[in-house]
Amino acid sequence: MNALRSKKALFVAAAAIIAIPSAALAGDGHQDNTWAAKQAIKGGQARNVILLIGDGMGDSEITIARNYQVGANGRLSMDKLPLTGAYTTYAVQKADPSKPDYVTDSAASGSGWATGHKTYNGAISVLPNEKPVPTILELAKKAGYKTGDVTTAELQDATPAVLGSHVINRDCKGPDAMATCAVNDKVNGGAGSIAEQLVQTKPDLLLGGGKQYFDQTVKAGQYKGLTVAQQAQANGYQVVTDAAGLTAASANKPILGAFAKNNMDLEWVGPKPTRTGTEPAKCAVNTARTASQPHLVDMADKALTVLDKQTRNSRKGFFLQIEGASIDKQDHAANPCGQIGETVAFDAAIKRVLQYQKQNPDTLVVVTADHGHTSQIVEDVTLGYTATLITADDANMTISYATADIAGSQQHTGTEVRIAAGGPQAANVLGVTNQTDLFFTMKRALGLK
Ligand SMILES: [Zn+2]
Repeated sequence: MNALRSKKALFVAAAAIIAIPSAALAGDGHQDNTWAAKQAIKGGQARNVILLIGDGMGDSEITIARNYQVGANGRLSMDKLPLTGAYTTYAVQKADPSKPDYVTDSAASGSGWATGHKTYNGAISVLPNEKPVPTILELAKKAGYKTGDVTTAELQDATPAVLGSHVINRDCKGPDAMATCAVNDKVNGGAGSIAEQLVQTKPDLLLGGGKQYFDQTVKAGQYKGLTVAQQAQANGYQVVTDAAGLTAASANKPILGAFAKNNMDLEWVGPKPTRTGTEPAKCAVNTARTASQPHLVDMADKALTVLDKQTRNSRKGFFLQIEGASIDKQDHAANPCGQIGETVAFDAAIKRVLQYQKQNPDTLVVVTADHGHTSQIVEDVTLGYTATLITADDANMTISYATADIAGSQQHTGTEVRIAAGGPQAANVLGVTNQTDLFFTMKRALGLK
């Protein structure tokens, strides 16, 4: 009965989508989609750009989440973007930037789309020579756009950090963590840690985890002796730490939301993979999740509401990045249900963004990842660790993690990843591009110099 009901719900959802020409392409294999494809290709400028990053969300991670949540023939919200391509994610070697580093981390890959430059693993929007380069968020802000940076990780983690800070090592998250970034340290006349630089760049919204770094004390300069959060307040930020605070926050002042000491809590839990596999099982909601933390979709919703309100009467809209961060982190941890729960939560945020785009078609929406990851759908137990889940198809899906010991950290992979888009300039994701090309696509969409 449940299956019937959900099938019916899917059918209704699919019927509703056909009304939007730009989304009619997805999954409609029996129809000639030539007209819909032509309709989806729009040049010109966008009022808003919304970039959604599934960290570590390669094709394998998308397929795993789709199979589990909506079945093999179902479609996630992220599958409904009209124009899809692939992009290469490689970094470059610091010692010889003419050579690729085939497996990127989130810092180098994020710096790629944030600045248009390839760099080395660990770099936060600096070149291989360690010099800072402007980011898409900084350029958008300078040009009069409102800006937002939203994640389920620490806000100082690589993907949110690359938009509004420049340090030579991604670990330099707070004033107490500058050991590997002497040149960036405020004490040495630098711009400070990632936390300090983020609030100095001053996006209109900073929403995520990483409260511990905002609670560290600034060591030099104008704000010496204050915590980074107090520095933010001195510069006009409202600082909120839970979902109720976020709901109550005014749209008239910038919002710093730090909802967890580190990364935000996971949505789902489930079986741990073993060398000999597991009994087929379903994932469960993580009852240990802190109830006062907003979900990613709540943060996305607040960001859209605030940025929309702030730009209603202005010619220019906003740039917003939203990251589903713990897809990557739970892939590292070989935790299939953790990984899927985060992908599904990310997809809910995408759904909300696509609703916004439907009301505001002058919005470029891009959904992509920064790199591939370990998890694979396999036939049977592997040389690595496997767990078997019962999917929405009521079928068994075995997932393997085979790039590290279970106690270690599973590895990123060097594969190309999906990039999907809709709205003005979306055609620039077609074919095989590079993550650095995304910078130029977004820059062109916003008409930035
Ligand atoms: Zn990772």
